[in-house]
Amino acid sequence: MTLSSVKERGTETAMVSRRQFLKSLCLFSCTAPFVSGLLGSTGSDPLAPFTRKARYYEKLPGRRVRCTLCPRECRVGNRERGYCGVRENRDGEYYTLVYGNPCSLGIDPIEKKPFFHFLPGTGAFSLSTAGCNMNCRYCQNWEISQSRPENVRWQSLFPKDAVKEAQRRQCRSILGTYAEPTVFFEYMLAIAREARQQGLKSAIVSAGFTRKEPMEEFLKALDAVKIDLKSFDDEFYRKICVGERAPVLETLKTIRKSEVWLEIVYLVVPTLNDSMDKIKEMCQWIKKELGSDVPLHFTRFHPIYKLKNLPSTPVATLQKARNAAMAEGLHYVYTGNVPGDPGENTYCHHCRKPVIERAGFMIKKIHLIKGKCPYCKERIPGVWEG
Ligand code: SF4
Repeated sequence: MTLSSVKERGTETAMVSRRQFLKSLCLFSCTAPFVSGLLGSTGSDPLAPFTRKARYYEKLPGRRVRCTLCPRECRVGNRERGYCGVRENRDGEYYTLVYGNPCSLGIDPIEKKPFFHFLPGTGAFSLSTAGCNMNCRYCQNWEISQSRPENVRWQSLFPKDAVKEAQRRQCRSILGTYAEPTVFFEYMLAIAREARQQGLKSAIVSAGFTRKEPMEEFLKALDAVKIDLKSFDDEFYRKICVGERAPVLETLKTIRKSEVWLEIVYLVVPTLNDSMDKIKEMCQWIKKELGSDVPLHFTRFHPIYKLKNLPSTPVATLQKARNAAMAEGLHYVYTGNVPGDPGENTYCHHCRKPVIERAGFMIKKIHLIKGKCPYCKERIPGVWEG
């Protein structure tokens, strides 16, 4: 069964056909992304249409503010911005500058995120603004994550229109992804709320370096979250990502306590976070704190940005990590960025038969029946319809 004709046996779902999906990809790439007309062309404050009062901050003396959106808690002077570059203090009030001006738009297979237990075989309307609250030395999207909003080409797309566009493109979900959706919190939150009203699912792909209160508010509106767990080592977070590990682990626990679907990705970077002892320690923590059913993806690193000196991750390392995680008791462990590897498939953890077969980002066949293994009837955790 191809991507197009994904059905659950006994529960035929209204999926986009392969032809429709590809047509929509083509249409989108021809018309929507990277519209440049607004760049520097709307007067002295080109970001004015996208400026909204920030949701999380405290006022400090002397017209200063403290941002309380992420663990950096930037203290920001008047007319200055926080570390992420998308929040600005204007006379003692704090503003987001990225409400409705995405600089990256696309329709991706949901498997690309990767989500493997969330609406498999469907298209995800994906967007991002500029800015990030970390600076990973291997960031794949550093051109936007490390830019300020006025330095990228954006398209005006407010939440209602974004959801309408996603539906028009026959996507089943709308995602904040590419850079860091928690720094465009207000925009993504409004999109998620609108999506729910219109019967569309929403999700974010995040590093999880966020404070608890905003994340809890986010979780009330979202249907799924994918967290990039960068490493299980504090020093890696500090030196390679300019972040911290502890708040990310707290975010993972907060998500798991909610109703929102969670998957975790671990990009295995040769020599930096590929210690099997550390990977085993991480898997033990995941099993204890989050449970065995949270899918874990070990994905392949390729040299990029500031880590061009390192080789790609050997496939054998990914397979070793996957085997180690399963030996620690995790049920759904994957290899990623290795098309054709058997570790891309979903296997029923009870009878070990394949229940979803994949090739790269494409679905080859879904065997599930109403979210259950067709062979042994075990329930496979995930969001299979919607
Ligand atoms: S969200 Fe941005 S401004 Fe706020 S604390 Fe984090 S890095 Fe600083």
